[in-house]
Amino acid sequence: MGKTGGKGLSLARRLYTSRTLGLALGLLLVSAAMYPLNPAPWVWVVMLLNAVLWPHLAYQWARRAQVPYHAEHRNLLVDAFLGGFWVAAMQFNPLPSATTLAMMAMNNVAIGGLRFLLAGTVAQILGIGVGLLIFTPAFIPQTSQMQLYACLPLMCLYPLALGWICFRQAHTLGRQKRELLALSRTDSLTGLLNHGAWKDQLEVEFQRCKRQQQGGAIALIDIDHFKTINDTYGHVAGDIVLRQLSKMLKQNLRAADVAGRYGGDEFCVILPDLPLTSAAAVMDALRDRFATLGYEQSPTLKVSLSIGLAAFNPAHTDATLWLNDADQALYEAKATGRNRVICCGDGSLHHELLDSV
Ligand code: GH3
Ligand code: MG
Repeated sequence: MGKTGGKGLSLARRLYTSRTLGLALGLLLVSAAMYPLNPAPWVWVVMLLNAVLWPHLAYQWARRAQVPYHAEHRNLLVDAFLGGFWVAAMQFNPLPSATTLAMMAMNNVAIGGLRFLLAGTVAQILGIGVGLLIFTPAFIPQTSQMQLYACLPLMCLYPLALGWICFRQAHTLGRQKRELLALSRTDSLTGLLNHGAWKDQLEVEFQRCKRQQQGGAIALIDIDHFKTINDTYGHVAGDIVLRQLSKMLKQNLRAADVAGRYGGDEFCVILPDLPLTSAAAVMDALRDRFATLGYEQSPTLKVSLSIGLAAFNPAHTDATLWLNDADQALYEAKATGRNRVICCGDGSLHHELLDSV
């Protein structure tokens, strides 16, 4: 099943139900309008075929089409044409005619907008033209009481069915929109927030810290010599390391902490309301645990992390300066030998661990 096929098929299925219902109720209406005109037997046969056989035929036709979506557009034009035909056959009896044309117009505008409404109207006019050629052109100005009652089921039930279908579609679309939004904010390899989404959260946290005059910290985490790991153990092993680190971040951070993948082998964390020294302790414990981790597929593989930390600084005018501080600390961690946590800022806050790899 192709992409357009999938889309068209669900439309075809939806129209199968509404067409079956609409034409069954329409049969009642047209029969009531035609009965006093004493039509020829073939007219009754065509009427029955249109109401009972056509919905199934239309569905099978669309289902087997290469692009069911296009086939359904053609089917809707056939509906409109036949609707016009029956309007002429009913000699323009006001209520049944208006009901027939209006229900089809509602269907067309719901499915194809203004363009399709216009195409449907042209098909209806063509149907009326053919009807006028076949039946005696005449105008019945009055709808009888019996005919009025025969119109009611279609008038009441069909809009209800279409309204229900539209509601269901809107509901599905809303769910898909939420899923897509979540996907657009997620890094596909690790399941953490992606770069853009994490930066949005950083901005939110920066503004919150400014408003509430509270402190927090951010950390930039970079895997040491990750290129060598890729080159030595392969990119699949590299991906496992990235996933392992994200798993560890999810497991070891508080619910309020916000972890993301900044890009490549670099990760980022927001640690709200945490003094820098506590944040450094948390990050160092993480670094330590990650360094001792073993990998089933590559037993000799050991991975260390360099981490740069920065506290919220009320003097900063924007969040990127906060990020720059963490970047600076990370740079220092790399420059001073890797496998360590470095805090940006006051010398007394520097927290360096000189564990060997
Ligand atoms: P340093 O210790 O200075 O950080 O060295 P490094 O080798 O870790 O740094 P570098 O920036 O040179 O290399 C990062 C590597 O990460 C390069 C790139 O091929 C690899 N990488 C980026 N994204 C992915 C990914 O999704 N999967 C894998 N397996 N590798 C990735
Ligand atoms: Mg690296």
